[in-house]
Order: sequence, then C-alpha cells, then structure tokens
Amino acid sequence: MRYELMLPYQIRNAIERRWPVVLPLGVLEYHGEHMAVGMDTLAVVKLLEILEGEMDLVILPAFYYGAASYAVEPPEGRGSLHVAADKLFPFAQELFGGLLRIGFRNIHFFIHHQAENFTVGMPTDLAFKFAARQAIFAFLERERGEGWWGNEKMADYYAEQAEGDDPFNWIKGHPLMTPEIIRSYPFDHAGEGETSLMMALCPAAVDMEHFSPEAWYSRSAREASPELGRRGRDFILAHMRKVLGSR
Ligand SMILES: [Zn+2]
Repeated sequence: MRYELMLPYQIRNAIERRWPVVLPLGVLEYHGEHMAVGMDTLAVVKLLEILEGEMDLVILPAFYYGAASYAVEPPEGRGSLHVAADKLFPFAQELFGGLLRIGFRNIHFFIHHQAENFTVGMPTDLAFKFAARQAIFAFLERERGEGWWGNEKMADYYAEQAEGDDPFNWIKGHPLMTPEIIRSYPFDHAGEGETSLMMALCPAAVDMEHFSPEAWYSRSAREASPELGRRGRDFILAHMRKVLGSR
C-alpha cells in the first residue's frame, strides 16, 4: 500500500502485522542524453510497485533529493540536483524518528545510487544509515529512559540480535543490487545495465533517439535491451523479497 493513501485503521493493522515499511531513496542525476534524471530512484519505485502486488508492504513516498554529486557532469542544463549529506542527515533523523513514533518497527530503505560501495558507504546512504542509528537511540532513550540497555529486561540482547526484536533491526538500509547481483548483471552509470533496467521497468524514462556515444560511462547503453533489463529486474526482485521477508 502507498502510505499517503492509507487510512489510520490500515496503518494500525500494518503496525500490528509488522508489514515492511519501505522508503525508496535516491537522487536526481544526469544519466546521459538518452535517460531520465530520476533513473536511480525510479528503479527502486518501480520494483517496489511490482512487489506490492505480491506481498504486504507499505511504500513511503520516494525521496529523490539525495546527494547526487556533480562527479558525472556539472548540473547546468543537465539536471543533476545535489543536496549535501550533512543537510540530509537532520531530515532523515526526523523522518525515521517520526516513523518509530507512529509505531513502525520494520522499516527499510533501498538505494541504487552509488550502491556499488554500499558496505563502506557513500554520502546519501551514510547519511540515512547514521540518521537511522541516531533516531533509534533517541527513540529508546525517550521511551525507556537512560540505562535502557543495561536493564535486566535486555539480558537476551545478544541472543535476539539476529532477530527483529533487536531495536537496531528496526531500520535497515539495502543496496538495490547486491555484490552477487553485480557479478551477474552489469552495474554502470547510464550504460547497458541501467538503461536496460529502465527499458524493462519504466520505458517512458528512456529515449535512444537521443543517445550520444560521447561519454565513456554511457557508451555501452547502445547494447541495452528490455530483455537484459528483465533479467536484472528478476535478480533484484529475488533479493528484495528475501530482505523484506516475503512469505
Ligand atoms: Zn544511475
């Protein structure tokens, strides 16, 4: 369900049943002359829309205003929109804190932008990961008071850690493509991999009539096809089902 369309009784039901609540996180960034600037975020949105048809899921309105950076091209006339990570952090902290107060305990975000470095982290995902941690600490201290962790009730903390009951599992971030997927599917910027994925997921975001072979990073897009994109789509859907605990 899309969060903005939910009625309060549906929200209470989603909390009680511990439905995953998912934030599509991304950027607006130049992706060559042939592809829409929303690619990285649209990929997450479109894949979640597919999953919504097969599992209980709350999809939050997408956040497109991440730290795109101007590493690929300067923004003038090209469309990249960069918001620095230190500005994202307070926003994300409020967002996660608010979701915890509503009652959600199974919150996730997926990001594709620069996610080849997800383990170490890049500015947008690091800001949201850091904010998630801070929001959880702040929430627990507010709800349980200082010393909550040292309390006898927490004696099974280490045993519970792998399960959902560890508060630090309440918010989890994931790359859209795992290292395993990247071994079987081309990971690039506006190249064959991303262009194929958009052809499969959101054809309106690609127009090969405008393709230009000038930039090295998008040159392989001429090999793109919806068939390849559908392969990528299925790899990613399998990974998303797994981390969201699809029945
Ligand atoms: Zn991209």
